[in-house]
Amino acid sequence: MAELEERFRDLTGASHAVAVSSATAGLHIVLAALGVGEGDEVVTPSMTFASTVNQIALRGARPVFADSDYGTLQVLPAEVERRITSRTRAVIPVHFAGAPADLDPIRAAADRAGIPVVEDAAHAVGTSYRGKPAGGHGNTAIYSFHPIKNITTGEGGMVTCYDGELAKKLRLLRFHGIERDAWKRYGKGGTPHYDIREPGYKYNLTDLQAAIGVVQMGKVKRMNERRAALAARYLEGLRGLPGIDLPESPSCPHEHSWHLFIVKVTSMDRDAFIGRLAEYNVGVGLHFPPCHLLSYVRERYGTKEGDLPGCELSGKRILSLPLFPGMADGDVDYVCAAIREILPGGKS
Ligand SMILES: *Cc1c(COP(=O)(O)O)cnc(C)c1O
Repeated sequence: MAELEERFRDLTGASHAVAVSSATAGLHIVLAALGVGEGDEVVTPSMTFASTVNQIALRGARPVFADSDYGTLQVLPAEVERRITSRTRAVIPVHFAGAPADLDPIRAAADRAGIPVVEDAAHAVGTSYRGKPAGGHGNTAIYSFHPIKNITTGEGGMVTCYDGELAKKLRLLRFHGIERDAWKRYGKGGTPHYDIREPGYKYNLTDLQAAIGVVQMGKVKRMNERRAALAARYLEGLRGLPGIDLPESPSCPHEHSWHLFIVKVTSMDRDAFIGRLAEYNVGVGLHFPPCHLLSYVRERYGTKEGDLPGCELSGKRILSLPLFPGMADGDVDYVCAAIREILPGGKS
């Protein structure tokens, strides 16, 4: 585990890395360590995985949703800023699909409000923003090693941060709250004594999983290059095709880890399109149904259709095409050919 943590300090340049059992666990203990609770607000995009919103809700805080750009699906910095109030305790931008969120203006807005930025970097092992990696800009960042992500440990995650006190709290919350520090000075070896000043969770990553993670980190550059090549092949194979909007990349200098390749269907019903693709044996993903329209979110927080136009329009049209390093070029060509046959006016 220590070795994988070191890899993440090296990757990001952050001073601390705390391995956890999932990104969701990481989000949980970061929000707990920041003291987010009843009456607080946390600003995050609605176009994200529900894990973030669940964790905010489970702290008793209110998720406040910022709209995202239709083309890139990235959260809009002006929207983040507009949603910050005196009750906001943190903002959580997401590096969506492997491209970076526009961190500088988001960070500037958070600094003006005196609150931290927590990067949801679940899609972002290998992503960089303006020459520095995700997690390399002085913020706390959270990575996921779920099987669908760019690297995996079966399940797992990592939190990186720059604040020693925060890292210490995270380490305690990760493992029951157990403190052995007070006894360390009494002997060289381990000590059976411990104290608990605040109860913690059981969110440690096992060494067995971390060993897989270390090997995955050795391969991630190559795997991401393969993802980028496959994404370029999709872009080429679908270019100019009417009825489908291709993923747009942010205009700021960046490296894309191509976690997901998300298209938007404009000329037919998205779900009908997914059904037709299934006839060609092509399975797709849906990343993500907008969080502000989930049942419990509507009921608890009064969010509704019409709140976030960019996110809602993309939410109706998006689907994620198959993209993983083991795909052959021919697989991409097959998917592109199927799409051309299915879309009205798409046959060339
Ligand atoms: C996958 C994902 C998470 C949660 O990751 P886990 O490791 O499965 O808990 C959080 N946020 C986003 C954006 C994700 O895609």
